[in-house]
Amino acid sequence: MATQQRILVTAAARGIGRAMVEGFLARGDRVHICDVDEAALAEFRAAHPEVGATLADVSDPAQVDQLFDAVERDLGGLDVLVANAGIAGPTAAVEDVEIEAWQRTIDINLSGAFYCARRAVPLIKAAGGGSIVIISSAAGLFGYPLRAPYAASKWALIGFAKTLAMELGSFGIRVNAICPGPVAGPRIDGVIDAKARARDIPFDEMRETYLNTLSLHTFIDREDIANMALFLTSSAGAKISGQALAVDGHTETLRT
Ligand code: NAD
Repeated sequence: MATQQRILVTAAARGIGRAMVEGFLARGDRVHICDVDEAALAEFRAAHPEVGATLADVSDPAQVDQLFDAVERDLGGLDVLVANAGIAGPTAAVEDVEIEAWQRTIDINLSGAFYCARRAVPLIKAAGGGSIVIISSAAGLFGYPLRAPYAASKWALIGFAKTLAMELGSFGIRVNAICPGPVAGPRIDGVIDAKARARDIPFDEMRETYLNTLSLHTFIDREDIANMALFLTSSAGAKISGQALAVDGHTETLRT
């Protein structure tokens, strides 16, 4: 394994992706990111002028092609793909989920990972091996009432990761999924708020319900997810492939 790896992290201008990027940079890796939010990208570029950052929506195969052209120009190849992009999608009973909202969630969360992997694999093969990390969710391991599109997309990503692990193992490419629990920050606040509204209960009561689903009774930090990504892409993870690894304080249920 190269000591300095060339890594693409999708949707990394902020949030969990950004924490992973900062971990990779601290380790000495070379990183390229994409994000769909221009303002967030501008702020990222100001903080990390050494990192290539491309405006791209992973749900659009043409934009993913442009992203990989930029990655090849910037990094000259690829050792690691972190398919991180994912949206929460709608919070609603299945019969109330708009078809467009279902489609958008699947397009970003699932198809986006496919569009990136199909471009990344030839590059990682050409590099002589490497790894792919797919960001699923605790919702990829449990049913999650009122979040059918999200849960379905995150379960599908685990099937995708396990299948790629089988296809690519003989090329020295390891493929794993990370399943984060609720990560402290604005996104989970939005998720809890949407659930509280759907259940018609106060935000604080719903927040406590979320905490009560976790054996460790604490939200996760972005750095906890970044640490797992660092481990999986290091020599310490050299024999780990085809796994869905939860970093979630032990989710007991997602009946929230
Ligand atoms: P976030 O909502 O903070 O978004 C991170 C970035 O993704 C943003 O900068 C946003 O502009 C970008 N983005 C959104 N759609 C995009 C697209 N189509 N193409 C490119 N970029 C796009 O997300 P996060 O909390 O950092 O989550 C990252 C991943 O972790 C997601 O796959 C998410 O489902 C998963 N996850 C998050 C949590 C959590 O509690 N935050 C829990 C479990 C799993």
